[in-house]
Amino acid sequence: MSNFPFNQVAHALVQWFNEQGKDYPWRRTENPWSILVSEIMLQQTTIPTVLARYEAWMAQFPEPKALAEATEEEALRSWEGLGYYRRVRALQAAAKTIMERHGGQFPRTATDIRALPGVGDYTTGAVLSFAYNEPAPLVDANVARVFSRLFNYTQPVDTPSGQKWLWAMAAKMLHQSQPRAYNSALMELGQSHCSGGIPSCILCPVREWCQATKPEELPIKSRRMQLTAVEHHDILCIVGQSILLEKQAGGKRHEGMYRLPRRTAAHTAGLSLLMKQKYSITRYKVTRYLYQETDAAPINGEEFIPLEELERLPLASPDRKCLHKVLPR
Ligand code: SF4
Repeated sequence: MSNFPFNQVAHALVQWFNEQGKDYPWRRTENPWSILVSEIMLQQTTIPTVLARYEAWMAQFPEPKALAEATEEEALRSWEGLGYYRRVRALQAAAKTIMERHGGQFPRTATDIRALPGVGDYTTGAVLSFAYNEPAPLVDANVARVFSRLFNYTQPVDTPSGQKWLWAMAAKMLHQSQPRAYNSALMELGQSHCSGGIPSCILCPVREWCQATKPEELPIKSRRMQLTAVEHHDILCIVGQSILLEKQAGGKRHEGMYRLPRRTAAHTAGLSLLMKQKYSITRYKVTRYLYQETDAAPINGEEFIPLEELERLPLASPDRKCLHKVLPR
């Protein structure tokens, strides 16, 4: 490892990126707030989905002040379709911190950036390098894949020692004069030629230094996420021009968002089935049965809401899709 040409490899990556790097809206800006938003969005959402939403979202919340002053409902509604809503809650908390603790100015130091709600080591490195062009290490799933292959690391990467090794490699291989391009290159290599499964090594800009013998088997992971199948029995109850919905209480995953009322299978046994919907959310494979009930009584945080308010209310994507299908246009 001591003979590994870290600088040469970093330079090759930068050269490749400068010639062939993809153009994304978040790569056209050096505004730290815009960079933070893109990084938070990209954490658990695909690039095409973020591309379709990013610019409109930035137009709605161009500065921390706008998000800090928005209601929780407005913030959640703006995130619909991106999933993992705790991210927008954290982003709103970060916006408030920037307003209250930093007078509306985005923090400049690693310590202050890392102290923002929802910001971890990866995001700190991303903001420092992409916004301020500082040589800062970052490790995400793409970088973990590239490093484990480049150095033929055959230990699990999702353990404390695996993470320690990855961050040590990231700190060792930096580019001092073009850190923004270098970190972008590293991530783009993991998204393109060095993606999961069988990599396209023939096109790789660092193939002459790559030590992987079976790259398709790397990185090694100690845990595999098991999907659990669950069934939900929900009801559609419309009385006059109002629909019964439940506002998710504090502590629940979709806190502050609305959803179709949930009942037991026994409760819905005699009701007419409107539709069956399948979707995955985190580690659950959900089958939702939606029944029509004409005279349901509200329970646990449920209330009748005018149908005309539906567009304004934050709903989880599966619920929004479901309602688009069953409600008359
Ligand atoms: S040579 Fe292949 S395995 Fe190695 S870094 Fe490049 S794409 Fe990944």
